[in-house]
Amino acid sequence: ENALLEVADLNVVLDSPARRLHPVDGVDFSIAAGETFALLGESGCGKSMTALALTRLLPESGRIHAGQVRLGGDDLLGLSEAGMRAVRGGRIGMVFQEPATSLNPVMTVGDQIGEVLAQHRGLEGAARQAEVVRLLAAVGIPDAARRAADYPFQFSGGMKQRVMIAMALAGEPELLIADEPTTALDVTIQAQVLDLLARLQAERGMGMLLITHDLGVVARSADQVGVMYAGQLVETGARDDFFRAPLHPYSRKLFAALPSGAQRGGPLEAPEGSVPVLDGDFPGCRFVERCPLAFDRCDDEAPDWASVGAQRVRCHLYEGVSIPRALETREAN
Ligand code: SF4
Ligand code: MG
Repeated sequence: ENALLEVADLNVVLDSPARRLHPVDGVDFSIAAGETFALLGESGCGKSMTALALTRLLPESGRIHAGQVRLGGDDLLGLSEAGMRAVRGGRIGMVFQEPATSLNPVMTVGDQIGEVLAQHRGLEGAARQAEVVRLLAAVGIPDAARRAADYPFQFSGGMKQRVMIAMALAGEPELLIADEPTTALDVTIQAQVLDLLARLQAERGMGMLLITHDLGVVARSADQVGVMYAGQLVETGARDDFFRAPLHPYSRKLFAALPSGAQRGGPLEAPEGSVPVLDGDFPGCRFVERCPLAFDRCDDEAPDWASVGAQRVRCHLYEGVSIPRALETREAN
């Protein structure tokens, strides 16, 4: 069975006159149709840069240095720019954190959604208008026919985010990339939008790459989880395994940083210490400065992937070791 999205050894470099940075360094994961893969980590860890690389929307100073990205078996990095434009908004829908910056303030929301329908599905006239209204209704906007003629400023934050989702769905994407889609929303609206995404996803069998710094969002919406730190994935696995037994010392710190008494889930507070500068000079583990379990080898040898059941973790502690069941719990740390 082939994955919908396959990302292999993705490397992004950012060049400035002063130095070369490696914000994404050897990232690999895959997403099956109908599945949600959550990319979790603090800001600056490379999550958004990974999404920008997949869609080839890197900033001017950035480029993909190595790696493979396949969507339904098709090599996205080998496409022409015109081919990639057809993929964006078509086979890949995108929702970002700030709808205010992604929506055109001087166009009605109906016209903006209509543009996507014209470009990616060739819809015109009454058929296009009917589809605009259907999409707005599908994302839960009341009185959709009338609201299609409104401008973005006439919508609340939560309703604007629904408009963004309608626009992202307009091209009938196979994959939805949602980068902090609910971060700007209050908690109640956040839950509504996440549940809406989950329902639409189930209806359409879409894959979803969900980028978040919020364990609560992961708990609510993810099937699979990838934890990113300093440009690399450091742990991957099924959501339930991850919440039962986060393996990487960084993952454990993320749980430990939750306010006490809080339920599992909630925004991440950064564990103490800072993320290293990603200038490519890492003889050892990238987490060594902040890791309570670091030992000699961690200073000068970069850890490779180790497997624990169906989970993967990039940490020397797990290499060639069978983990006793008793240690496979979060509480044990
Ligand atoms: Fe900590 Fe060493 Fe594991 Fe890195 S490899 S996370 S420093 S124990
Ligand atoms: Mg980001």
